[in-house]
Amino acid sequence: MSYQVDITIVGAGVVGLAIASQVANEDRDVYVLEKNETFGQEASSRNSEVIHTGIYYPKDSLKAKTCLEGNTLLYDLCQKHGIGCKRIGKIIVATNDAEAEELQKLYNRGKDNGVELKMLSHRKMRQLEPNMTGVSAFLSPSTGIIDSQALMRYFLGKARDNGAQIAYRTKVIGVDKISGGYKVRVKDSQGSFSFITKVLINCAGLHSDEVARMVGIDVDEAGYKLHWCKGEYFSVGNGKNKLVSRLIYPVPKAGEGGTGIHVTLDLNGRMRLGPNAYYVDDIDYSVDSLQRKAFYESAVRFLPFIEYADLEPEMAGIRAKLQAEGEDFRDFVINHECDKGLPGFINLIGIDSPGLTSAPAIARYVSTLLEEILRNY
Ligand SMILES: Cc1cc2nc3c(=O)[nH]c(=O)nc-3n(C[C@H](O)[C@H](O)[C@H](O)COP(=O)(O)OP(=O)(O)OC[C@H]3O[C@@H](n4cnc5c(N)ncnc54)[C@H](O)[C@@H]3O)c2cc1C
Repeated sequence: MSYQVDITIVGAGVVGLAIASQVANEDRDVYVLEKNETFGQEASSRNSEVIHTGIYYPKDSLKAKTCLEGNTLLYDLCQKHGIGCKRIGKIIVATNDAEAEELQKLYNRGKDNGVELKMLSHRKMRQLEPNMTGVSAFLSPSTGIIDSQALMRYFLGKARDNGAQIAYRTKVIGVDKISGGYKVRVKDSQGSFSFITKVLINCAGLHSDEVARMVGIDVDEAGYKLHWCKGEYFSVGNGKNKLVSRLIYPVPKAGEGGTGIHVTLDLNGRMRLGPNAYYVDDIDYSVDSLQRKAFYESAVRFLPFIEYADLEPEMAGIRAKLQAEGEDFRDFVINHECDKGLPGFINLIGIDSPGLTSAPAIARYVSTLLEEILRNY
């Protein structure tokens, strides 16, 4: 007779942990399985740590809605639980007339999504960021930065306090649909074993399409195949961090796969440029130092004080994207797969940016799906 649990979450990134913290309680067994030695070793600790506002995404998309809601929830959580964050604001700047036209469209989209934005006069631009140049710009006052490790520690602590168990070095290697649930095969340092779960929640980030395939979904047919898109960062030294006070972003180029190489500041005031965006076949977090020139050229357009010698390779992350290179916008997939004959299986696929910001709102959304599933059991 196999061991039986109520809810199994695959992946202890920010999304899996946020969900565990939301759904764990004393009346159910919740397990989080993580293949790495500890939580948050992949996308969740290899990103810009920006609390986004929902400017970039089509109205009513899950990305727009969960980002807007997540923004408010994150500031609230940070304030209540002493998680480091700062609402430093962000400026998006156009450096020529063509970009100014795109900037206006972005502003309109953001406003339409309900985001607070302010178009800036030249005088105001100079006043806010005297060392930035551009033909037009707008300010997003509620964009901020967050200590993503502290956020994950908070979710983990809350999940554990509510009774969830976390198993590290435990990789899901197979799943069979059985009557009333799923038989999950895992591999840990002792070998492999299996157990039964009523509900399975797939938060496996870069490998979530692989987990969906294990459960029996034809990933190509469902449109769930992931495309990995790398983003590298360069630190900016020589005291240049003192020359900006906010996050500064360019106008994204169509089909770029990201928000454009921008300036971020972390909570310690360190400045960096990134991320770029290019599709890769392997997970390799090294930074290609030959990219330095492209980073420099991209940033010097709106931050003329930056010099080539200020840049040093820093770190990289990989986005789990549903859209292949050159393809249009794809939304998060957050789906109870009962329509595919898989009741009790919740898939989260393509949780790229703004997944960190959206995490608490995604957790609420999944919790609603879960309560409905458990009611029907
Ligand atoms: C370069 C970059 C910049 C970004 N910037 C921002 C930003 O500024 N703001 C923002 O809001 N978002 C940002 N994002 C997006 C954000 O980081 C992600 O959306 C978020 O971290 C996704 O979290 P996750 O838990 O889904 O995935 P992950 O953090 O990747 O976690 C998935 C986990 O599943 C585990 N796993 C996988 N397969 C298995 C298996 N078979 N068995 C057991 N465990 C498994 C992995 O080991 C991993 O720990 C950025 C992303 C990147 C890459």
